Amino acid sequence: MNSSFQIGKVMGIPLRLHITFLAIIPWIALIFGSVSMPDPFFGKTYGFGAVEPPLVRWAYSFAFAILLFVCVALHELGHSYVARVNGISIRSITLYLFGGVAAMEEIPREPRLELKMAFAGPGVSGVLGILCMLLYSQSAAFLGEEHPFSTLLLTLGVMNLILMGFNLLPAFPMDGGRLLRAYFATRMPYVTATRRAASLGKMFAIFMGILGLFSFNFLLLLIAFFVYIGASEEEKATAIDISLEGIHVRNIMSSQVQTVGPNMSLRALMDLMFREKHRGYPVMDSGALQGIVTISDVQRVPDSQRDLTTVGEVMSRKLFVIGPEEEASAAMKMMQEKGIRRLPVMEEDKMVGIVSREDLVRAIELWSERQFSERS
Ligand SMILES: [Zn+2]
Repeated sequence: MNSSFQIGKVMGIPLRLHITFLAIIPWIALIFGSVSMPDPFFGKTYGFGAVEPPLVRWAYSFAFAILLFVCVALHELGHSYVARVNGISIRSITLYLFGGVAAMEEIPREPRLELKMAFAGPGVSGVLGILCMLLYSQSAAFLGEEHPFSTLLLTLGVMNLILMGFNLLPAFPMDGGRLLRAYFATRMPYVTATRRAASLGKMFAIFMGILGLFSFNFLLLLIAFFVYIGASEEEKATAIDISLEGIHVRNIMSSQVQTVGPNMSLRALMDLMFREKHRGYPVMDSGALQGIVTISDVQRVPDSQRDLTTVGEVMSRKLFVIGPEEEASAAMKMMQEKGIRRLPVMEEDKMVGIVSREDLVRAIELWSERQFSERS
């Protein structure tokens, strides 16, 4: 599950690397160490393929790959810095194959702040690109255009400008999608703005996909797919977040909780589940919560042994609980992260209720029903 690891801290924010990133650094070094590409517009050469001897060639290629990674990290830190000075806490930044993701405590619902935050990343990339280009002109003048150090600065500059351009594409999950949403959100409700920005992103992805299909460009197809998924995910996440806003666990939990004892047999538990149509029960022993037992715990025991096996033997003792005053969206997040379907609600060591995924889904459905009737 934990496929990323921490490499350090910047501005107090843990910087994490996803394992895909370990593969990408040698891969980028390999690509840029193998090509020597004069571009058709300016006749400049990118890549280190022509650098001799090989040792110098690969040293430059790896230095380039690592510097590129530093530039991606700086892009993410740009977003995080603006978030931080506006009072939003950042839990961590994870660098993936396709870029970075900053995990924020909360996503701002303030269009102006989101505009600033979304723009900060491409802004950093743009500044880095221009800086590299300026340094390149100096290096070209002193060391010569063909010197590998000049090539390094030029290639890094162009890559940063591409990173800026790519991220300004008006589609989720790129920064451009967020910019577009923030722009829409200044003149309409947030969910509507997200929906509109997401559908524009999807149209854009379909257009890219068709282009990729006809030009047999596999990379373009892949990016189109990635953009399409990103747009749909963002739309869904925002709708859920907004519809659970202001709802606390206490408002949606069931306070009549049927519990079972650890000595109950699995046969009796199955009968109870069948009668009450519940798929999981908290297990209580002399007033204290001991664990939780679900239908999947029962299914692990063969039918012939269910008379002799007790709930206490199969229940899961690892308990995740939530307080009644916490936000419903926090319950949703916890269930998703831990892959569970129900959470006991605890208040000062006492179980006061239980909240399930079904309760959350019902809250979301009721909310969208209300939205719909308000609109029509
Ligand atoms: Zn960005």
